[in-house]
Amino acid sequence: MRNKSLQPSEVIQKFRETGALLEGHFVLTSGLHSAIYLQCALVLQHPRKAEAFGRSIAERFQTETIQTVASPAIGGLIIGHEVARALGARFIWTERENGKMVLRRGFSVSSDEKVLVVEDVVTTGGSTRETVAALQAHGANVIGAASIIDRSSGKADVGVPRIALATLDVASVEPAVCKACRRREPAIKPGSRKQ
Ligand SMILES: [Zn+2]
Repeated sequence: MRNKSLQPSEVIQKFRETGALLEGHFVLTSGLHSAIYLQCALVLQHPRKAEAFGRSIAERFQTETIQTVASPAIGGLIIGHEVARALGARFIWTERENGKMVLRRGFSVSSDEKVLVVEDVVTTGGSTRETVAALQAHGANVIGAASIIDRSSGKADVGVPRIALATLDVASVEPAVCKACRRREPAIKPGSRKQ
């Protein structure tokens, strides 16, 4: 068993080799343009890679006696489960109901329960922040938050201390100010790309 925590370059390498990180000129679902496209599902489809990410995140919280890992569905499910497994913690998730992030399916947290919130990618931090708030509303003690990738250049504020295995410094911009557009490079919408 490998216990060494992954370096950021090793994390990025696993994304590249599975096609989960593409470089070029992309139209994101938000409509913004970016030189990087991330599709975490393509790296997380490999359980051994997901496990390695989970262990590396867990290592950073080893001394915190985390009781429960919670993730926003769907993006956080696989990695959150792996982190929980590595910590020997319980795993639950939040999901949207009428636009609001909530605990469903009979999941609950007790007062002062020590919880870690885990997501695959933090971009604005929105879904992590909403998950933190939903758990705090139930009285949980949210110790921190973690993601595999931070694409906010470290800027996203989720209301609790946050770590990431790798941080990307890539701007997402309006098409009107996109340099690649100005160079007339065709923009790709990865979801609709023909294989
Ligand atoms: Zn563009």
